[in-house]
Amino acid sequence: MVDSQYYLPNDIGVSALDCGEAFRLLSPKEQLYAHYLSRASWYGGLVVLLQTSPEATSIYVLLQRLFRKQTPVQLESVAAAAGLGPEEYQAFLVYASGLYANMGNYKSFGDTKFIPNLPKNKFKDLVWHSKAFQDSPSEVEALWNDCSHLLYSLETKQKQLGLGDKGITTYFSGNCGLEDAELAQRFLDSKNLSAYNTRLFKTKPVGEKRCYEVRLASAVKKDCTVDCEQDTPCGTYEFEDAVFTVCRGDYAPLMEKVSQNLEKAKAYAANENQKRMLEEYIKSFTFGSVNAHKEGSRFWIKDKGPIVESYIGFIESYRDPFGSRGEFEGFVAVVNKAMSARFARLVSSAEVLLPELPWPQAFEKDRFLKPDFTSLDVLTFAGSGIPAGINIPNYDDIRQTEGFKNVSLGNVLAVAYTTQKEKLTFLEENNKDTYIKWKGPSFEVQVGLHELLGHGSGKLFVQDEKENFNFDQNSVRNPETGELISSWYRGSETWDSKFSTIASSYEECRAECVGLYLCLNKQVLSIFGHEGEEAEEVVYINWLNMVRAGLLGLEFYTPESKSWRQAHMQARFVILRVLLEAGEGLVTLSETTGADGCPDAVIGLDRNKIHTVGKTAIQKFLCKLQVHKSTADVEGGRTLYEGYSAVTSDGSHDFLKLRETVLLRKEARKMFVQANTKVKGETVELLEYEGSAAGLIQSFTERFSEDAEELETHLLELSSHDASCWC
Ligand code: ZN
Repeated sequence: MVDSQYYLPNDIGVSALDCGEAFRLLSPKEQLYAHYLSRASWYGGLVVLLQTSPEATSIYVLLQRLFRKQTPVQLESVAAAAGLGPEEYQAFLVYASGLYANMGNYKSFGDTKFIPNLPKNKFKDLVWHSKAFQDSPSEVEALWNDCSHLLYSLETKQKQLGLGDKGITTYFSGNCGLEDAELAQRFLDSKNLSAYNTRLFKTKPVGEKRCYEVRLASAVKKDCTVDCEQDTPCGTYEFEDAVFTVCRGDYAPLMEKVSQNLEKAKAYAANENQKRMLEEYIKSFTFGSVNAHKEGSRFWIKDKGPIVESYIGFIESYRDPFGSRGEFEGFVAVVNKAMSARFARLVSSAEVLLPELPWPQAFEKDRFLKPDFTSLDVLTFAGSGIPAGINIPNYDDIRQTEGFKNVSLGNVLAVAYTTQKEKLTFLEENNKDTYIKWKGPSFEVQVGLHELLGHGSGKLFVQDEKENFNFDQNSVRNPETGELISSWYRGSETWDSKFSTIASSYEECRAECVGLYLCLNKQVLSIFGHEGEEAEEVVYINWLNMVRAGLLGLEFYTPESKSWRQAHMQARFVILRVLLEAGEGLVTLSETTGADGCPDAVIGLDRNKIHTVGKTAIQKFLCKLQVHKSTADVEGGRTLYEGYSAVTSDGSHDFLKLRETVLLRKEARKMFVQANTKVKGETVELLEYEGSAAGLIQSFTERFSEDAEELETHLLELSSHDASCWC
């Protein structure tokens, strides 16, 4: 038996990343811009195969060959004829989906290897029975021979990504260790060369000297005679007791396709910043220049609040075991104009909604300032995985002086909370259908309130360096004690500097409470288009989701260090505690035994008590949060917040034990099915697929339908070129 950690479960969640509404509301020009950026992203995303493992590329090509000749449905009967049971065939489909979704055979979160959960001979029998094999047996056999050993191998070194003996990496040739990585870093630093778009290959020594090749990702090859950009000093250098050759052309055919599509996108750019940004990116991917990418990023930062947002290049360095080489990613996300309109109406109602909040008027800002918040729907995210939000660029020098963008990816977040009914944990059976039906709409209401009126509300009392007060110290009173307030922020003190370690979670909690509290308001619900009974369902599910999230949040608590690892999840746990404390049967939490005989839990919420018991509890708690915050009362704030954050027993519930149950029932990370775009005449068509392993596979076989064979040839050449350098 293989340890289940090393394969993906047959019932793994696969969800379609829905971008339909947002995409259809784009103008034709915006759609074309999004289309060509998507194409560039998808081609570039294939680089990740070469950045993951030596076998990933061959596995990818093998799967593409199989599925381009036969769809998952057609292959099902082939599988049966080859002697695979339905469970084994499902395991095969799940493996293929996993390879596509992670762009390789190592998980993008956790970096461990996954192998198919069916015997190797069954996998082989399926391949041999396929049409792809029958049409070109020798080619497919060669592919199989190329990858099948490593595809299944779980030798210690192959179980995870890592450098040297620690694991597998293709950012370095297989003969490199930590010492080589350190030497190369010193060399790169001496040349003022960024490692982001490079890989390191240790080649044959010359005499006593160690030799290395530093490859820059670029469309032009190393023998190209085009003038070298000043910042990419190609050539051979002696450094310490080694020789380094810096050359271009890593992933050349892919970089060329990226550049070509960015060039096409340029024609549909919305403004000068986008145009110049693309010009710099094209330069970067053509010549392998990180400096050009930085220039592009500068224009990107200036392109504020675009309808079509994107970022592309060698960005995150988590997967280089040395931590300095970037993995390729490209994404395109678009504003959902319908949702933005609803959010705008919420903002324009701020004047009447803010006074509804449970603190005296003096504790509210003199003037409402809309917080900087953008929610976008992802159309394309090519690379090894999809985050729920982005905060880039990573270039520190640019972040410090020119800024960065912080974007929440709405449709990714929404999917993270929705799930198939069978996998909906901790809810009462009769709540599950309602939950699934209203989760999306209630999530949108909560996000809007949280971001705009939550983070946007509340005043901080300040006495500045010139001794000026922004409040009247002779009249502002603590609403609980009735006494004049006695503390405030002085000089350069800020919320973060005063509340330091609890500041971010505390603030998230305040924003979540504002969402819960204001969603009870009929005017708010009406802004989002919910009236009458429907509105009550939205309220119920929003509250129910919050208490469930509070329970799920326990996953992010570490008992050993008694610390929380995730600000939002801590905040939701705190809210759960507050609502449990309110009593009167508002929230029930019972520890049970599941059908499998293992510990389980069920959380319930009495819908008839939300507007009474629930509202009062949140009202009081939210007011306390705000008063401590406004008055810079760190001591009071800490006592309150850390009290509710403590994962112990509250007398009725043992939260440490519940945490074990939450971990036991944790759902495996979902995979996303993404749409394709296709130019048809003057317009762009959005091709959507079902949220299943078969849908995910189909999206990938149709993704490169125009040049699939050419692309696969390139990929295999690149992969075997890498292998040949690994002496
Ligand atoms: Zn927030």
